[in-house]
Amino acid sequence: MAVDLHVHSSASDGTDTPSLVVEKAAALGLTALALTDHDTLSGIPEAREAAARFPIELIPGVELSVDHAGVKIHMLAYFLEPTPGPLEDRLAELRTGRTFRNKRIVERLNELGYSITMNDVLRHAAGDAVGRPHIADALVEAGAIENRSEAFVGLLGDGGSAYVERDRLTAIDAIALTTESDGVASIAHPLTINADAATLRTIFEDLRDAGLAGIEAHYSEYSPTIRTQLAAVAADLGLVATGGSDYHGAGKPGLRIGSGRGDLVVPDSVLEGLRRRRP
Ligand code: AMP
Ligand code: ZN
Ligand code: FE
Ligand code: FE
Repeated sequence: MAVDLHVHSSASDGTDTPSLVVEKAAALGLTALALTDHDTLSGIPEAREAAARFPIELIPGVELSVDHAGVKIHMLAYFLEPTPGPLEDRLAELRTGRTFRNKRIVERLNELGYSITMNDVLRHAAGDAVGRPHIADALVEAGAIENRSEAFVGLLGDGGSAYVERDRLTAIDAIALTTESDGVASIAHPLTINADAATLRTIFEDLRDAGLAGIEAHYSEYSPTIRTQLAAVAADLGLVATGGSDYHGAGKPGLRIGSGRGDLVVPDSVLEGLRRRRP
C-alpha cells in the first residue's frame, strides 16, 4: 500500500485543482495523499470533500521555505487545519510577503525589458499563494521564454537577474509553530540544501532536537541508492523517512502522483511513523 506525501495543486503553483489531484491519487490506488501547497491551506477543504468520495485519506499539509544557519530549506508540515492557529495565522503573513516580492520581481523584469504586468501574473494563479512559477507562466505567454524551467535559469532562479529575496521563517520557528499547531514537520528534498554531507547531518540533528519529525528520503527526483542512503540517515537519527512526488501537474512535466518519474514507492508505514510523532 502506497501513499504520496508531497503534492501541489492550483491553490499554489500546481496546475491541477485540489479535487483533481485527489481523484488521480485515488485512481492510482494510493491509500493517502498529503496536499502540500506552498504557504497555503486554501486547497484543503476542496481536497477533503473529494477524498470523502474515494477510499483515500487526505492529509492536510503545507510546504514552507525557511532559513537555517544561512541555508535555505523547504519544510513540509502535516496535520494542519485550514482554520486559525499558530502556524496557520503565520501563513497569511507569508503570502502578503509574496505579494510584495512578486511586484518587485515584475518591476525588475520590466527594467530588463520584459513587459509583463502583475495582472498578467495573476491570470495564471488560481489560488492565494502566487509565486515565481506564475511569473514564469506570464513570461511564457508573452513569448519571452518557452517554459517555466527556462525562467529559473538566469532570470527568476536564486541569484538570477530578476531574483528578489522574500521573508522566510527560520526552520526552528517553523518547527515550533508546527508543533503548536499539533502538526509534524519533515525536511523536503533534503539534498537541495546547499551544504556538504557533514553539515547536512548537523542540520538534521539540530532540527531533530528542535522537534523535526522526518526527512524526505523517498523523493521522486532521487535515485534508489540516494533514497536508501537518506532512509538510513533518518533511521540513524531517529527521524521518519518520509516521501513524495512533488507533483505540480503540467508545472513539472513528467512527474506523476505516487510514482514520480516511474520508480517511486512511498510505503504507508511512513504515514504511521508520522502519526506517532504527533504532539
Ligand atoms: P517561489 O515559491 O515563488 O519562491 O517559487 C519557488 C517554486 O518555483 C518552487 O517551489 C518550485 O515549485 C518552482 N521552481 C523552482 N525552480 C524551478 C525550476 N527550475 N523549474 C520550474 N519550477 C521551479
Ligand atoms: Zn511549487
Ligand atoms: Fe520544494
Ligand atoms: Fe514542493
